Amino acid sequence: MLRNKGVADFMALLQGEAKKLKDHHKPTTCPACLLQISITFEGDRRLREASQVSCHDFWNACIAAITVQRSPNDINTLRLQLRRNVRVCRRQDLHGNPPRLVAQDLNDPVHMFIHSLYVLLGSCLMPVEGGHSALYNSRDPKKAFGNRGDLWPTLLSDLVPFGERQSAEAHVRWACQLFSPAPFMAMLPMLLGCRSVLFPSLLEPELRERILWYITQCLHADQGRDDYKWPDSVQSQCTRPSRLPWWMTLSSRCSLEITVSFMDMVFCGADSDPDDAVRFTLGFERALLPAVNTALEIHNTTGLRNSKAETTNLARMALLLFKRMDEPKSPQRDLHEVSRREMDRPTYMGIDITQSPHQLVHHALLKLYQKRTCSALSCGKSVHQASAGKSLPLCSGCKFTQYCSKECQRADWKHEAFPHKVICPILRLWTPGIQAGFELSGTRSAMDVLVASGEQNRTIFEAWAITRGLVSTHPLNAA
Ligand SMILES: [Zn+2]
Ligand SMILES: [Zn+2]
Ligand SMILES: [Zn+2]
Repeated sequence: MLRNKGVADFMALLQGEAKKLKDHHKPTTCPACLLQISITFEGDRRLREASQVSCHDFWNACIAAITVQRSPNDINTLRLQLRRNVRVCRRQDLHGNPPRLVAQDLNDPVHMFIHSLYVLLGSCLMPVEGGHSALYNSRDPKKAFGNRGDLWPTLLSDLVPFGERQSAEAHVRWACQLFSPAPFMAMLPMLLGCRSVLFPSLLEPELRERILWYITQCLHADQGRDDYKWPDSVQSQCTRPSRLPWWMTLSSRCSLEITVSFMDMVFCGADSDPDDAVRFTLGFERALLPAVNTALEIHNTTGLRNSKAETTNLARMALLLFKRMDEPKSPQRDLHEVSRREMDRPTYMGIDITQSPHQLVHHALLKLYQKRTCSALSCGKSVHQASAGKSLPLCSGCKFTQYCSKECQRADWKHEAFPHKVICPILRLWTPGIQAGFELSGTRSAMDVLVASGEQNRTIFEAWAITRGLVSTHPLNAA
């Protein structure tokens, strides 16, 4: 039924839903209808793109409903209200096809409501291959996001309507309570656009503990490893649900992958400090490592999609945790064999450094572009350390590197080993491809230029990109 609607009809539907969400505590939304809308929306790229332009009201209402403060009493009120909305809904025909909702699914309509909002939000924010991605081009989250004006979200306040602390708190609470990967999936693009704003809140002891607990659960800490132990000192208020409703299990197959990407983003995403991973995991090494080992074992035996890069990410995390662990430790016992192998292999993001420097360079550049730090090798100040809310000026030649000061720019131009004078004209050709999205599109010609610029310059450029990628984004190598 929903699937046959045209784009314009669907946008009208979302605008209607925006009105129903107006009252945060007593929305007139039917959660069963919202669930169906989210399933249709998730699978249709045209809808996602159109809604970013024409449904700002809906997205603002969506994020407000998720992040608004709710006391236990408010949740009860919401639950009663949502149950009533399902009963009086005049579009029962939309409710279950396929499969039909059962009474048990409607037991807690709050979960259905919030889960559906997260699925919608996550799909809306997900970068589209070769298409727009407001958050991806964000150069400074404190200012407007780097989109062309009409795409949602436009401002940071669109994503954190009640402030960053409350947003982070809400996302962590819902992730633990829903036990669905949907909140993490929505947080991934948010972290891409404004990690520096959300990360300090995630570091607060209570939120950090809960999110680490949820991560260990998603990594299947309970399976197989008898050495998994959550620290006694931590009073985790979360419990794992005994059974998930079908509409949450649909996406749980990829929950492991999402969790690995999420950890990577938290540990070394845009604006990260090399020691962020350490600060985030401190004191939880002995609980996390067996969970990471279990995830590695699952990856190894099931051959999940994209598993190579994820395996490397997991192995890297395992090594980081292993290094931080108190004595006594033994590689044979504490590390999965994949991590032990990884210990001696020169890899970066799943790519063998010795085998494909070009692919490696592209990945290093992608990470670097999102970093938003001063590009002078000796500096590395982030936009927030360097200036009060002002973005770092871009190099006018390549529009890729940023500097905190004229001094840094001058020093980098004439850097002894990696002069920007050499790197700038090559980067200039790379930038449009990088801005366009995650894919290699547009880098073909840059690659040709790289080859044409001569053996010596090419070597300098590759060494620069690899150094930047490895030294500044990778907590292990920075240690
Ligand atoms: Zn309904
Ligand atoms: Zn600087
Ligand atoms: Zn430049």
